[in-house]
Amino acid sequence: MQSSSRQPVLRVALALPLRQLFDYLPGDHAIVARPGMRVLVPFGRRKMVGVIVEVADKSDLPLEKLADVSAYPDGEQLVLTDETLELLEWCWRYYKHAPGEVVFNALPPLLRKAEGEIPPPPVQYSLTTAGEKRLQEPPGRIKAQYRLLGEMREEAATDSQLRTLTSTWRKTLARLLEQGWVQADTQQPAPLNPGAGPDLLEEQQVAVTAISASLGKFHCHLLDGVTGSGKTEVYLCVLEQVLRQGGQALLLVPEIGLTPQLVSRFHQRLGFEPVVTHSGLSEGQRLAAWAMAKSGLARLVIGTRSALFLPMPDLQLIILDEEHDASFKQQDGFRYSSRDVAVKRAAGLGVPVVLGTATPSLETFNNAAADRYSWHRLRQRATGAAEPTWRVLDLCQQSMKGGISSTAMDAIGETLGKGEQALVFLNRRGYAPVILCHECGWHAACQRCDANLTWLKGTNRLLCHHCDSGMRVPVMCPECNADALQGAGEGTEQLEQMLASVFPKTPLLRFDRDAVRKKGEFDRLSEQVKAGESCLLVGTQMLAKGHHFPQVTLVVIVNLDQALYSADFRALERMGQLMVQVAGRAGRDQLPGEVILQTHYPQHEALLTLLQSGYEAFAADLSADRQAARLPPFTYQALLRSDAHDRNDVRAFLNQAKQIFPAGEAMIYGPFPAMMERRSGRIRWYLLAQADTRPLLHRQLDGWVPQLKKLPAARKVRWSVDVDPQDY
Ligand code: ADP
Ligand code: ZN
Ligand code: ZN
Repeated sequence: MQSSSRQPVLRVALALPLRQLFDYLPGDHAIVARPGMRVLVPFGRRKMVGVIVEVADKSDLPLEKLADVSAYPDGEQLVLTDETLELLEWCWRYYKHAPGEVVFNALPPLLRKAEGEIPPPPVQYSLTTAGEKRLQEPPGRIKAQYRLLGEMREEAATDSQLRTLTSTWRKTLARLLEQGWVQADTQQPAPLNPGAGPDLLEEQQVAVTAISASLGKFHCHLLDGVTGSGKTEVYLCVLEQVLRQGGQALLLVPEIGLTPQLVSRFHQRLGFEPVVTHSGLSEGQRLAAWAMAKSGLARLVIGTRSALFLPMPDLQLIILDEEHDASFKQQDGFRYSSRDVAVKRAAGLGVPVVLGTATPSLETFNNAAADRYSWHRLRQRATGAAEPTWRVLDLCQQSMKGGISSTAMDAIGETLGKGEQALVFLNRRGYAPVILCHECGWHAACQRCDANLTWLKGTNRLLCHHCDSGMRVPVMCPECNADALQGAGEGTEQLEQMLASVFPKTPLLRFDRDAVRKKGEFDRLSEQVKAGESCLLVGTQMLAKGHHFPQVTLVVIVNLDQALYSADFRALERMGQLMVQVAGRAGRDQLPGEVILQTHYPQHEALLTLLQSGYEAFAADLSADRQAARLPPFTYQALLRSDAHDRNDVRAFLNQAKQIFPAGEAMIYGPFPAMMERRSGRIRWYLLAQADTRPLLHRQLDGWVPQLKKLPAARKVRWSVDVDPQDY
């Protein structure tokens, strides 16, 4: 065919773990192919969904070798805008990841499949005159229909409102439409109808003014405020301005920070329901949220990590709450930092980004210290409540009961005696972290990981928290048959039982992933806490996140000592963040709070700095140490991770990879075993590349990563690249 040489060539992303795009011809369709459209293409013997990333005028392959696009499932509608495509392209180049996986990560799960369809524009339902008349009569036998009608009495209702009324709402609604009682129209943006907030404190006002002044241009703001200092109030004020200007805003929160309490607070203050999205929703709900964002109807989206890639045509502000939180880094597959990508997205759009936290990550802390970010400090609690006081208990001098010192126990008793609430924090789930035989020393280890099995007494099981494999608790020691199995150490389950025996009359609520598996359980428990009756809370870091429990006046931190001498250079930073976050639960309202820290190392320098001088001084000290040790954020790292069943295969691959690392300023170290070498039956090792600047590191990575798949040993291992790693 003569015209074939003038045909455009489509560069298509396919969901494959390959670092390349795939070329296709547009085929004979009445559609002008554009970047951002979905296509159905032949791949081997299959048909696959792809996304056009680029329309080029030539291919490296001869044109007659290229296959035609089979279909355009969405016609000319786009699933990615130019803006998101550009961001995703930056992502796969920066994170050295397979473009197809990066692109598909940004799509709602249903649109990753051929049968998924872009939903029609969202509609709203309102009463017709006939419907109004029907509503004036008594319900009679049509109870469900009548309830739906009632929901539209004042104003039009949307799917998400009707969904909450009855499980058969779709059928019922179809009836109402059939009968002509209800009509469907294209949904209108929710009217902005904000309620009044409190008068801002001076520190809050300064932050609001500065952030508002940067609307319309790229600027990073660190909103550094202790828990309860009114950060959310600052978000609300700036959001209101953005929304008044007709803009959209995106609020990203950590995985376990997204609670109905938070959403209803935004709803109440702003006067409309924010669109919420996270991985716990059904695929249909996630698609609906995506469509709302894309149409511009969603004026505020609140979501976890993945919401970062939503198409939002009028996006004018990005906020990341609890920016230090580890869940903002995706830890498998396409490993990216949603904080860093959020900053990149804001830069591309030319809009401000606000990073809020009481405990900035050292990365953000140093960006603020170097004046790359504006630093807004909120140092007072907005309600006027005092900061909690700290008491450090030297465990070497204490008599203990099940992990709690007698002094702490007395303090708990006193708090409960006053009718207040106490919170006991322990970052270990289960009854005991290990079970062992007192005769022969046998202990229960995971067959597949370098880890002990946690003893869950309630379910009589031993469970690996790393791979989820487990077994029943043996009655006798499997090694020597003695009846001498005992737990060693304490977990939250044991603490709960012990405290229940000491305070039998007090309600006890346990918050951890074992106790709060069921959906809605967390909210049920926290409602009970907020009802205000005296009670004891026991839990893991699930309790450390943004929840407002006004009656908690005492926090006991059972043990964080492991972090003080950990091999992980980030352990101290994380410990400090956790301590401050947990302490922030105490005395948030009118009642003064106290935090008791149990430790074997009361003289540890970092601990002393944190307690005596606060998080900012602590972070400054850690930064100085990092700088002296030439560690991030003062240097830049990337890992080449590899795993296989056989250690020899992993080491052979990494050794070959090291051989071909290009010469330059960046250094390559290793191979090292991962901190947990064996996990789910696979042996994990890595190489570490490090340089003084990002460009130096990336120049060498770019020359290196594309060569890795050609190494002879690469076929026997799984490998991936982790840029700016958080875990080793
Ligand atoms: P953060 O997000 O920093 O934890 P919040 O914004 O949730 O803080 O504020 C903590 C509490 O203080 C909330 O109950 C909030 O309504 C209240 N609050 C915030 N700002 C003010 C203010 N300027 N005056 C009075 N109360 C305030
Ligand atoms: Zn034994
Ligand atoms: Zn395991």
